Amino acid sequence: MAASELSLEGLKVWVAGHRGTVGSALLRRLPREGCTILTATRAELDLRRQEPVERWLDAHRPDVVILAAATVGGIHANSTRPAEFIADNLGIQQNIIHGAYQAGVRKLLFLGSSCIYPREAPQPMAEDSLLTGPLEPTNEWYAIAKIAGIKMCQAYRRQYGCDFIAAMPTNLYGPDDNFDLIQGHVAAAMIAKVHRAKQENAPELVIWGTGTPRREFLFADDLADGLVFLLKHYSEDGHINVGTGIDISIRELADLVVRIAGYEGRVVHDLSKPDGMPRKVMKVERINALGWRAPTDLETGFRRAYAWYCDNIETVRR
Ligand code: GDP
Repeated sequence: MAASELSLEGLKVWVAGHRGTVGSALLRRLPREGCTILTATRAELDLRRQEPVERWLDAHRPDVVILAAATVGGIHANSTRPAEFIADNLGIQQNIIHGAYQAGVRKLLFLGSSCIYPREAPQPMAEDSLLTGPLEPTNEWYAIAKIAGIKMCQAYRRQYGCDFIAAMPTNLYGPDDNFDLIQGHVAAAMIAKVHRAKQENAPELVIWGTGTPRREFLFADDLADGLVFLLKHYSEDGHINVGTGIDISIRELADLVVRIAGYEGRVVHDLSKPDGMPRKVMKVERINALGWRAPTDLETGFRRAYAWYCDNIETVRR
């Protein structure tokens, strides 16, 4: 790794997207670094509009930018709102990355997604699988935007010497997730569904698809910790995976949440819903070799996420 160690102490760190799953975890993690955290609400700043973003960066002059803002969603949202997924994300990235360059930002961390890798990529997916084959069709719009973001960080590093890095998190879960049953990702949707089935004493819990697809799940607070680690110790042209390297099937995920909740009904499958990518698990040897690994195991993480959901059920995003 390039010898570039950065202390965040005393620096101004802008978390773009601070209300999301990643952003809110960063707001819990960053105070330990002694930095000043900057945020802007959606009402204050529409990240999809270039001029306000550039003005905001010029006025606040952050030292560090974490680009955790994105239009995101689960398999249904991705496949039914392709225009929003590609246009919003390309716009947000373009505005913030170029604006950060203009404002002389010292370090920028762009967040991608494990869906950037080809559908048929060898599993676990290594960083160098990028652009080696066709994408999974249910999320290609989002993936194309995220790939463009990785390439922008590289381009600005190569042409202007900007210290812009890109991290690819795997499927996430945790506090402040989007618990909408239709738009959300599977982890949050599963927590919300199982809880409701238990509350209503429903005889059946319906999950989408065959249950055979395999996914890797990372606790959001672990991701925030990994991102802080990368900001401090990683400074390279290539993107880097952040995950656990461990996957489970969707059916196993359902069984785990059912057990945590103490739900006693049957789990049934709605086969009219898509399965999406057959398997998605990332190779995490690069980040492990740098000295970071995800501290929270799946059982502990989902117990915490489920407890958080039950405590905040009136106000969760959905
Ligand atoms: P993906 O990882 O990009 O495919 O997106 P998701 O996080 O939405 O995970 C989708 C996988 O979980 C697919 O195999 C779905 O069929 C399955 N799944 C099962 N139940 C649900 C559910 O209630 N919501 C979502 N989003 N996916 C579900």
